[in-house]
Amino acid sequence: MSALADRLSAVQGSVADAARDAGRSPSEITTIVVTKFQPVSLIEELAALGVRDVGENRHQEAKAKAEALAGLGLRWHFVGQLQSKKARQVRAYASVIHSVDRASLVDALRSDEASVDCFVQVDLTDDPGRGGVAPEGLDALVEHVLETPGLHLRGLMAVAPLGEPARPAFARVRLLSERIRELAPDATDLSMGMSHDFREAILEGATHLRIGTAITGNRPDAG
Ligand SMILES: *Cc1c(COP(=O)(O)O)cnc(C)c1O
Repeated sequence: MSALADRLSAVQGSVADAARDAGRSPSEITTIVVTKFQPVSLIEELAALGVRDVGENRHQEAKAKAEALAGLGLRWHFVGQLQSKKARQVRAYASVIHSVDRASLVDALRSDEASVDCFVQVDLTDDPGRGGVAPEGLDALVEHVLETPGLHLRGLMAVAPLGEPARPAFARVRLLSERIRELAPDATDLSMGMSHDFREAILEGATHLRIGTAITGNRPDAG
């Protein structure tokens, strides 16, 4: 087996272990392999290993890769901060947008023709620069997504803050998720958990993990 195949199967094993420890079925958890900064050849190798869900965080790079790999049947997840002026272009190749975090972006994603799945990203820090809506603004943003044609709300997305334990942060997201279900009963998914904290995320109910380096190895040009 290649090193990539080894790391993929090790992560898959850890995901299954954590799911069992949480009393959950591994089949309810989708692992998205975040391939930002990685070459197209690595994504081809992942596809050959059975990976179907890949994540990218920059539009230019994501678009080029999605075009180059159009024949592979991959689902592209956009996980990075998204400028409103790029929104329509991202819709064109992304199956899921994980980073909806403000009303102007929701408006830019509006479509009367097609629907795209999305997550509302919640900011768990006090630093507005990191993306995500503050918990105080969450209900209003969720309502705005629900009344906008062309967006299908799957649930909430979050990144654990640096410098504090991940599990209580993910527990906060789980509580927020329960709260927004009063507005959006179907928005039950939780996109949370990265290379270093996916176990804690699974224990708090994550349905979509976004895992990069634990599977891909180090990023060639992490900027
Ligand atoms: C890069 C990135 C990830 C994956 O991070 P790793 O630590 O490499 O697993 C997940 N989510 C987002 C939003 C990212 O930008």
